[in-house]
Amino acid sequence: MADLLEMTCACGYRRRVRTGGLMRTWEEEAYWPFHCASCGVVEVNIQAPLACPDCGATAVSPYGKAPVSLHQDCDHAYVQAWDYKACRDGHLCPVCGQHDLKFSRDRYSIRAD
Ligand SMILES: [Zn+2]
Ligand SMILES: [Zn+2]
Repeated sequence: MADLLEMTCACGYRRRVRTGGLMRTWEEEAYWPFHCASCGVVEVNIQAPLACPDCGATAVSPYGKAPVSLHQDCDHAYVQAWDYKACRDGHLCPVCGQHDLKFSRDRYSIRAD
């Protein structure tokens, strides 16, 4: 149910994100990547009122939907947690402002880090 991914962009930006929750606590705590205008990519608890965990802004947009994600019409979602889903590519990068951010699930590099 929980997943650890990395979002990477051609400009060099990368951010590790968790999605979903743990079996015992998912009703209180489950995460999905959101875009905050001030903080960039943040992990928001989707089981609580949506807000940026860093600055408290409530104007956060979930990845996987416009306007922060484009072309989300892939046949199979690359990432999913409850009603939230996203394709692999087409996500807004908070650094360069292009929709070049993509998810990757490279478990080996996460472990080696
Ligand atoms: Zn923020
Ligand atoms: Zn970028």
